[in-house]
This record gives sequence, C-alpha cells and structure tokens, in this order.
Amino acid sequence: DKGLAVFTSGGDSQGMNAAVRACVRMAIYLGCKAYFIREGYQGMVDGGDNIQEANWASVSSIIHRGGTIIGSARCADFRERAGRLKAANNLVQKGITNLVIIGGDGSLTGANLFRQEWSSLLDELVKNGSITAAQQEKNSVLHIVGLVGSIDNDFCGTDMTIGTDSALHRIIEAIDAISSTAYSHQRTFIMEVMGRHCGYLSVVAGVISEADYVFLPEYPPPTDWPDKLVLKLEQERSAGQRLNIVIVAEGAMDREGNPITAEDVKKVIDERLKHDARITVLGHVQRGGNPSAFDRILACRMGAEATLALMEATKDSVPVVISLDGNQAVRVPLMECVERTQAVAKAMKEKRWADAVKLRGRS
Ligand code: ADP
Repeated sequence: DKGLAVFTSGGDSQGMNAAVRACVRMAIYLGCKAYFIREGYQGMVDGGDNIQEANWASVSSIIHRGGTIIGSARCADFRERAGRLKAANNLVQKGITNLVIIGGDGSLTGANLFRQEWSSLLDELVKNGSITAAQQEKNSVLHIVGLVGSIDNDFCGTDMTIGTDSALHRIIEAIDAISSTAYSHQRTFIMEVMGRHCGYLSVVAGVISEADYVFLPEYPPPTDWPDKLVLKLEQERSAGQRLNIVIVAEGAMDREGNPITAEDVKKVIDERLKHDARITVLGHVQRGGNPSAFDRILACRMGAEATLALMEATKDSVPVVISLDGNQAVRVPLMECVERTQAVAKAMKEKRWADAVKLRGRS
C-alpha cells in the first residue's frame, strides 16, 4: 500500500500528460495508491484538494494532450523550510513517500533538498503534534525520481527531454509554411526560436529547413558577423536561391556577449541588402499543440521507468532521473545531472562557451 504522487513543476512541455499517465498506471498496476498533486509545489504546500487520489480512468484520454492537465506553477513557499514543512505534513497525512517530479533542474533541486530534509521535517512535525510517532516511523524515508520536461533539450544526462521533439515539429511546420510564401516573393525570413542557454532547437531546425544562417548561444560569432551574414546571403541569391532563412535562438549573442536579436539581423539585411526581410517570433507556439509520437512514447517509457525506480529504491539509494540513452530509458544520478546542467548555465553566463559545450557532452 505504498503511496506515490506525481506532479509537474516549472515550465510546461508537450508530453507531460503522457508521463503523468504512465506513472499513475504503472503505480496502480504495481498495487500502489497513486496521487496527483495539482499546481506543482504550491499544491503540495497548500494540500487539500490539490492532492487527489488518481485511478485508472482519471488518466484516460490525456496522452495526446499538450501542456499539463494537473497544472504547473512556480512556488516561492517551497523555497522556505516553513513551506516544505507544510508540504511534508500534507504528504504524511496521505501516506505518500514516493514522488515523481516532472520539471526542470530547479524543480529537481528542490525535490532533492526536500528528500535530504525529510527526517528533520518529520521530527519537527512530531514535536509540534501534527503527526504521530507511528506516522513518522511508517513514512520515515522519502523517495524521489525526476523526469525532465523541457522543450529546449537543455538538461545534461539525457539525449532528449520530454517536449523537444514536439517543439521541433511546431518550428518546422512554421518554417515550411513560411517558405512557400517567401519563395514566391523572394523574401528573407528571420525566425526566432526558443533556447536561452541551449541552441539545440535552432541547430536542428536550421539543418532540416536548409537555413542559410543560424545564430545560437553556444557558438557566438565574432562582432563582424554582419559582414559574414551579408556575404552568405548574397552568395545564395546570386546562385539563384529565391528565399533565405535565418534562424535566431532566443539566447544568441556575439563573442563579446552582446545579444543578437531577430531585430538586429533584420536591420543588417534591410540596410545592407535591401531584401524584403520579415521576422517571425514563434514564441509559445513552440510549447503548444499535441505531443509528437516520439514525445508520447518517450514519456510513456520514462514514466513507467520512474515508477519502477521508486518501487526498487532503498533507504540508501541515490535519487535518479530517468533519461534517454540512445534508445534506452535509463536511471542516472539526479544531482550529478542537475549540477552539470547548472555548470553549463554558469559557463555560458561567464562566456566560457567551449567549456559549456564540453560539459554538456553528447546531449
Ligand atoms: P524549472 O524546474 O523549470 O527549472 P524553476 O527553477 O522555476 O523551474 O523551479 C520550479 C520550482 O521549483 C520553484 O518555483 C520552486 O518552488 C522549486 N525550487 C527551485 N529551486 C529550488 C531550491 N533551490 N530549493 C527549493 N525549491 C526550489
């Protein structure tokens, strides 16, 4: 009669529902009581109806839906011990000692801290009379497993995060749509795509759309990039190409760390080439829509594996995140991945781009 709860935290991504469904169904299949926690950590702190038992049917017909039906939120309360104490009380009252966190590195860091503090939180709850000594004993260890939902593919230790493939579908559909009109009118289209620290979306979109130029955070061009851009676009036009596509990642910058925006690129093209240049900012369209087949199956496999990992966890086992390694859903130490992800962000901030790429590794 183990209690297992699943929740989504931080930014949403397509495929989160498929992951929630898989966690819940695998938990029920294995004889656990499964719970949803609505609105991320805020729901855990507030308790009440936010923590709801789930049954087989409550996750029907959600595998194809984008976003997260159980809600996601940022939560300032959980950053304070007082908030985590309330959350611990709410979980113990329902006998929940297994958590699947679907979020980014911030959410996973919070979960790890919660797990480390768990026994001292329970001591405090016994002391203030919120829980009994018997409840403390029965719920003495908190097990956590992470799944990463992010369209940016910006988490270290996994080949793909849940949502990235669907976001690429949104981007490529938009580029295909725009290309046919651009071709007719000999236009240059500048597409801004997401990715603050990670250029994965921009690079892959660039390759599969035959873009002429891609600006991304990890490979900042020298400050004379306008000359190179102009030369490249001129070459393409004189070779008979009727349209040009330039992709700019949200976090693009030059080697001095100055941001390069879609507006900056347009200005150069307008002033120096007199092309008919237009900007399209895809924005939240990239997070929207239904998850792709790839994201659905990825989330199903990761969700099922997360529940299995929780069931096999012992008091001394290291918390894991479920990641994709080639074609396998595998367990990797959670804090190692979080720390590497944070080190990449730090290296990017300090303009140590080569270090960032090396730290990130294959994924
Ligand atoms: P993401 O999970 O997408 O990286 P955030 O960094 O915004 O998103 O984190 C989501 C939530 O996780 C925060 O609103 C907060 O409730 C919790 N959280 C993040 N970092 C910590 C931390 N160091 N300690 C406790 N809770 C945290």
